[in-house]
Amino acid sequence: MARGAGRLERGTTRDRVNAPRALALDLATRRLSLSTGATPRPAPSEALLATLLTGIDGTDEEVLAGEAGEPPRDAARWVLGHECLAEVVQAPEGSGLAQGDRVVPVVRHGCGGCEACSLGTPDYCPTDDYTEHGIKGLDGFMRDAFADDAASLVSAPASLGDLAVLAEPMSVAIKALDTARHIARRVPWFEREGGFAGRRALVAGTGSLGSLAALLLRDEGMEVWGLDRSGDETAAARLLADVGAEHVNARERSIRDVAEEVDGFDLVIEATGAPRVVFDALHTLAGNGVMVMLGVPSDRPPLDVDGDAIMRRMVLRNQVLVGSVNSHRGQYEEALARLEDIRPRWNGALERVVTHTFAPEDFEAAFADAGPDAIKKVIDWRR
Ligand code: BGC
Ligand code: ZN
Repeated sequence: MARGAGRLERGTTRDRVNAPRALALDLATRRLSLSTGATPRPAPSEALLATLLTGIDGTDEEVLAGEAGEPPRDAARWVLGHECLAEVVQAPEGSGLAQGDRVVPVVRHGCGGCEACSLGTPDYCPTDDYTEHGIKGLDGFMRDAFADDAASLVSAPASLGDLAVLAEPMSVAIKALDTARHIARRVPWFEREGGFAGRRALVAGTGSLGSLAALLLRDEGMEVWGLDRSGDETAAARLLADVGAEHVNARERSIRDVAEEVDGFDLVIEATGAPRVVFDALHTLAGNGVMVMLGVPSDRPPLDVDGDAIMRRMVLRNQVLVGSVNSHRGQYEEALARLEDIRPRWNGALERVVTHTFAPEDFEAAFADAGPDAIKKVIDWRR
């Protein structure tokens, strides 16, 4: 959290908009650097925004490593980042936004041609023509200022302060929960018996997404187990303990044994991107259980899986395995509301999700492995 010694504040929002820094990947050399560019010029439907904070997640690291992502066509440099909290500098008339408002820009923009996109749910776009800031075809948010469609900005409550930077990953967890709930409702007594409240959930992976999912499911009233491959002294394991969830170190305890002791999990949220974990966790689902996969794996050698056993279990127990990607506007709004609900709970555990804050100039440290103390790393563009 420490600021660089002797570093000066960067001045006003206006200064930042007039000479914006951007953290971009040189696509020829694949090197990341911070450079200063020109003031963005918003189109009539766009707002001009000054970035406050950007979050870093596994996808950003994969984009940097060349394992994921698709740069904007013809770009020489590609600005990274898809998790952002920004401040409105100037907004189009009638947009409902005013100077000084805090907003979270949505990651995905629609293809412009399909029903999902015209309904405002580009997260369900079945074409390959959508774009995503910092991930697919668009510059990201790791820059002092940018212009974006006013319609793709979600107002963040001032009361949430800087924690609103967690809205994007939380919205991905919200979509996973929405999806699971939708599927769980096929069982006639699901709602009557209180939905997921009081039921058992496994969150596989305790990175920033898994940690936020664990908080969300605890807030939903579920009993939660969080699985990773580390001891109890990591920041993520301590967070789980703080919110009354149980940490399971897969190096010491088999998750299948844990599942057997508790009669299986009604919900599994996978946030590892590791197919081995997915197939293993399928054996931990309770009857009628649902597992939502959120991780996007890069190419690894094919796996040997026990297909007969998995198929038998899934059919005989009515289980569902479903993938979920991205999130839409309504889920960002719900994420912001949930973050507000969660914030006062468990002695402010939510604050401890953001473990590291860096100045843009310290981007190398920001992208370096911060080890077991890290959950969410953010870059503060006011520095
Ligand atoms: C982002 C999603 C995005 C997905 C695939 C994730 O890291 O949070 O918004 O859709 O990557 O590109
Ligand atoms: Zn579409």
